[in-house]
Amino acid sequence: MAHAFRLGDLLQPLCQVIQIPRPCLVCEQRAWRYGVCQTCLHELAQQRQQGRRCERCWVQLPATGGCRDCSARPLAVDQVFVAWDYHDAAELLIQAYKARQQHWLAAVMADALYQQIVGQWITRPEQMLVLSVPSSRAALIRRGFNPAAEVAKVVAKRLRQPYLVGGLYSVDTQATAAQKQRTRQQRLGAKAPAWRCVTLPVNSTVLVVDDVLTTGSTLQHAAQLCRRAGAYRVYAALVARTPWRDHF
Ligand SMILES: [Zn+2]
Ligand SMILES: [Zn+2]
Repeated sequence: MAHAFRLGDLLQPLCQVIQIPRPCLVCEQRAWRYGVCQTCLHELAQQRQQGRRCERCWVQLPATGGCRDCSARPLAVDQVFVAWDYHDAAELLIQAYKARQQHWLAAVMADALYQQIVGQWITRPEQMLVLSVPSSRAALIRRGFNPAAEVAKVVAKRLRQPYLVGGLYSVDTQATAAQKQRTRQQRLGAKAPAWRCVTLPVNSTVLVVDDVLTTGSTLQHAAQLCRRAGAYRVYAALVARTPWRDHF
């Protein structure tokens, strides 16, 4: 997807450093600390409370029936934490972060995610390792950074837990690069991306961080690798969850 150059994209990081007000990235009202105003952040946090939710993957469910993702293939994670629904403002912010190099948004997303984690996960283990879903080499070259890793580092810092650099890593440049372009059916039927996980402490607890949860196939693969590498409990933290209607 092509993204037009915006003057504001140059000014935002500068404003972040010298802490002067700038237009909110979402509503263009005045924003101070974050570049996203408190009203928009509050609305984003409220969205995730709306409607019936799947307890396992947090997708908003239709009026009747269960989660089609989880009934077909339950996620191999103990619990999923999601900050936002992936549409409107959340989509705009994640696109700005990933495609327009607005790296400072990692802190905004990590803070939203941290609030969600501590609110939902009252009895957290004293020790856990924070890992991030890897980017392919092609995506790293295109973006210059791994979006999930930058969010994971801040989440780990806020939780006062270690971030395991390169804990999950990609060994294939093709498979993960193509994942974003696939349709839902292709994603579900596709071969898992060629990743590895370093050896983890036996029976450890890990928190895997990624930006967007769509079908869960990426997260499923990451969780299975962590378990095979020694993790006993695998939790996942996602900046946003794609609503069901957008899966197609
Ligand atoms: Zn705003
Ligand atoms: Zn579900």
